[in-house]
Amino acid sequence: MSDTEETTPAAPGLTIDAKNCWETYATPQEREAMKTLADNYIAFLSACKTERETVQYVQGVLAKAGFAESLDGNFAGDAVYRVMKGKTVFVARKGKKPLSEGFRLLGAHCDTPRIDLKQRPLYQDCGVAQLKTHYYGGIRKHQWLARALALHGVVAKKDGTVIPVTIGEDPTDPVFTIPDLLPHLAYRQVEKKLSEAFEAEKLNIIIGHSPAEKPAAEPEGTAEAKPAPNGNDLIKAKVLALLNERYGIEEADLYSAELQAVPAGPARLVGLDGALIGGYGQDDRVCVYAGLTALLDADTPEHTQIVLFWDKEEIGSEGSTGAKSRFFEYCLEDLIEAWEPGARKSRVLAAGKAVSADVHGAMDPDYQDLHEKLNAALLGFGPCFCKFTGHRGKVGANDAHPEYVAWLRSLLDGAGIPWQMAELGRVDLGGGGTVAKFLAVYGMDIIDFGPAVLSMHSPFEITSVADLYATKLAYQAFLLS
Ligand code: MN
Ligand code: MN
Repeated sequence: MSDTEETTPAAPGLTIDAKNCWETYATPQEREAMKTLADNYIAFLSACKTERETVQYVQGVLAKAGFAESLDGNFAGDAVYRVMKGKTVFVARKGKKPLSEGFRLLGAHCDTPRIDLKQRPLYQDCGVAQLKTHYYGGIRKHQWLARALALHGVVAKKDGTVIPVTIGEDPTDPVFTIPDLLPHLAYRQVEKKLSEAFEAEKLNIIIGHSPAEKPAAEPEGTAEAKPAPNGNDLIKAKVLALLNERYGIEEADLYSAELQAVPAGPARLVGLDGALIGGYGQDDRVCVYAGLTALLDADTPEHTQIVLFWDKEEIGSEGSTGAKSRFFEYCLEDLIEAWEPGARKSRVLAAGKAVSADVHGAMDPDYQDLHEKLNAALLGFGPCFCKFTGHRGKVGANDAHPEYVAWLRSLLDGAGIPWQMAELGRVDLGGGGTVAKFLAVYGMDIIDFGPAVLSMHSPFEITSVADLYATKLAYQAFLLS
């Protein structure tokens, strides 16, 4: 077909007309609100780099907004929350209608791919002290080399104290790094398959270089006579001395620590127009932030609102803080006890409507061949529904029901909020999973719904300022429905 050939346009209204958020939200007031949301989000993203830090932030915001924390197993009041092990949080706000007439649930995850320290990490070799690691979640190993890393986490001591650790974020702090091979010596490596070129056991973090002062040998003949250290472990000794000075910990305390290496430094606006957001951990903290701000702006709802921020999504939602745990169910039991005693849990659950607030892979301009364009998400076109996840023949997917998709279309179109529908990549070329299927087992309606992200799971993920705004509004409309 030549470019001058006339085509017959379809009748207006009959074809899909994707709406761009920048065109939809074009007034000065809307652009101002967009910018404020993005600025606040960037501050949140820069401050919260682990699940614990995120939950702590959420707790602070909720307490300030008048939500009451349940510490004793009971829920008191109409706006409540409960925290599980400092890593997962359940939030609820009472609606005008009883629980048995359904709830609106938004669930996101606050864990992100990263490099965890091993339990016995510290050693010294070749003039440096290093930390052994075991990566968490789906990382592309080469993206984590030769860049500034910060250490975040906690160290639990035998006396019961839990010491928070953050090194590498304050501009006066040092940072850490995993060295990468110089090209001059990479001739053999570049011939390898990508999956074999970067070995997990080589992801060792440099944490020190200078030796501790050599203590003098004890005078001979005294009871504690021992030779002076030979210098083999003096760099490691200095690292331990510095950790002890800063945090009061010793090497054995690392056995009961969770320390995570994450990209150091703040999130930033990207592009001359500052219309994109770049930063670590946007999968899925962009949905956490949009969901939390939507909840705060959606009071006096028709239906009870439930918001959950889970841990462990990136490794299969396992464990006591993941979405496969009974935490949500137990919270709901206590909520029924407090708000509608006698209501059947199974009825309440089956009457619920939910969104699995999780990000979607944006169409990558340089890898368009991996997407199927009719069903790919574009940056700037609003939050994206993903009817099913899974891989190779929808294996492992929650597949949302069309009746529910129609209900959501009506809700968002009625509110004038741009949204899109997509699946992750070409069939048989990729796939993924979310928490959706773990909630679907209760019989509630649920679908994956969140903004598109470029460079997902990388140390510098990209979202659209306009998508963040539309996503927050969409979550708000859902919570108020
Ligand atoms: Mn995710
Ligand atoms: Mn992910």
